[in-house]
Amino acid sequence: MGSFADGVVVCFVISALVLLASCAELGLGTRIVDNGHILMKTSCSSFFYNSQVNNLQGWLEVPEECEGMVAHYMNHGQYDVDADGVVTAMADYLSDVVPQGDGMDVVIFDIDETALSNLPYYQRHRYGCERFVHAIFSEWVEEGIAPVIASVLRLYKELQAGKWGVILMTGRTERQRNITTQNLLAAGYDSWTSLILRSPEDEGTPAAAYKIKKRLELQEKGYRIWASLGDQWSDLTGPAAGNRTFKLPNPMYYIA
Ligand SMILES: [Mg+2]
Repeated sequence: MGSFADGVVVCFVISALVLLASCAELGLGTRIVDNGHILMKTSCSSFFYNSQVNNLQGWLEVPEECEGMVAHYMNHGQYDVDADGVVTAMADYLSDVVPQGDGMDVVIFDIDETALSNLPYYQRHRYGCERFVHAIFSEWVEEGIAPVIASVLRLYKELQAGKWGVILMTGRTERQRNITTQNLLAAGYDSWTSLILRSPEDEGTPAAAYKIKKRLELQEKGYRIWASLGDQWSDLTGPAAGNRTFKLPNPMYYIA
């Protein structure tokens, strides 16, 4: 075999190994052995599954080849069906608990991709295939027009009617309190027990640690936290999240 052909083979092998390594980082790889050759089959379904059950952590972008799948999932009904399933499971669990009526039995709702949807933003940013830019996202938040996630609002109203308190806890900052309040009211939420945003001292703290700290403060005040609802595992992990936690789908971004 000539040196050019050798070079082509070496390049092919190196490229394949790089591809395997990068896909393995994202949990995308399905390795298939065919007549002694390892083939690579990209699987966006595998990305979706592994991202949602928290096997992948720290991912920064949706893989390019999965933009179409995520767009279809978000826009054509399956997201709504899945969100409705999450909400129904949470309602079912809480229906077996009777609040004491002193206002201290509470559940915690996250805001972004939980109470409110940022889908219009992500439709303009390739469903998470573009790397997140905080300043650009903040401009969107300042518009205050994030639409409601209807099934979550329905649960919110049912819980309030059942004498539950709902605490809204978000990674948004205190500087965004007014616009967030306006957006929540416009979306149909009202009379929340508390709206907790990041104070300046909490900025820079990872989301999970920040939320644990705030939940423990709520417990110290005497609140009985029964459940948490959020789209990120960092909304749901660690102490004081409640007896049960409920994870909404979000294949567009990951927050540690
Ligand atoms: Mg969220």
